[in-house]
Amino acid sequence: MDKERECVVCYDRKVLAEYPDRPVTDACHHEQLVCRDCLQQSISSQSNGKVYNQIDCPTEGCGGRLAYADVQRWADHDTLVRQV
Ligand SMILES: [Zn+2]
Ligand SMILES: [Zn+2]
Repeated sequence: MDKERECVVCYDRKVLAEYPDRPVTDACHHEQLVCRDCLQQSISSQSNGKVYNQIDCPTEGCGGRLAYADVQRWADHDTLVRQV
């Protein structure tokens, strides 16, 4: 019956549909504990002053690095525009 999960970043309980439906990076072998909103925010703030290939998965202890295709999949529109 557990259709909700607490995000480890914002501590909101959200339905599973609010979380990534696949691993954020190819290196991710963990459950998706960071909601899509927080993932987008993390990518956005990490991409400030950085290039897209230095963005890490926000899940603690993961350290997976997003490929460009991952950034395109998960980032919000404004972040993607900045990356061009
Ligand atoms: Zn969150
Ligand atoms: Zn990860």
